[in-house]
Amino acid sequence: MREIINDTKDRCILCKKCVGICRKTVGREAISYVEDQNGNGSIVFDFDKCIVCGSCDYICADNAIIIEDIVDTRVMVTPSGRKEFKLKQCAKCGYYWAPEQQIKFMSEQANLPLSAFELCSDCR
Ligand code: SF4
Ligand code: SF4
Repeated sequence: MREIINDTKDRCILCKKCVGICRKTVGREAISYVEDQNGNGSIVFDFDKCIVCGSCDYICADNAIIIEDIVDTRVMVTPSGRKEFKLKQCAKCGYYWAPEQQIKFMSEQANLPLSAFELCSDCR
């Protein structure tokens, strides 16, 4: 398991690859590049829009985004802070298999009730 720290701002080189993959591939707008009055840029995460899919973690070559599952929690550390997401437990085997925020998104996209996501992929 990689090191879980609270802040990765110093590692971010502002390449914006995470912004692109979140918007163009995942279809979310959970990451933005913003500049202050002096033209200093930073990467800002909107955790309410994030489905914790891990695509930004995958594309970030500088280890500025870290996502790890710790028992019933998915921990996400980014250049704009740390957030913990609750994982859903499989009703059959008890495995914590996906973030509840991601399951809600899948339910909306597939037009299925949340009750359709009670089981992990192994138990379905
Ligand atoms: S977090 Fe990673 S992918 Fe995103 S801008 Fe910073 S270095 Fe690039
Ligand atoms: S984990 Fe969140 S911020 Fe990263 S690509 Fe997926 S939806 Fe976007």
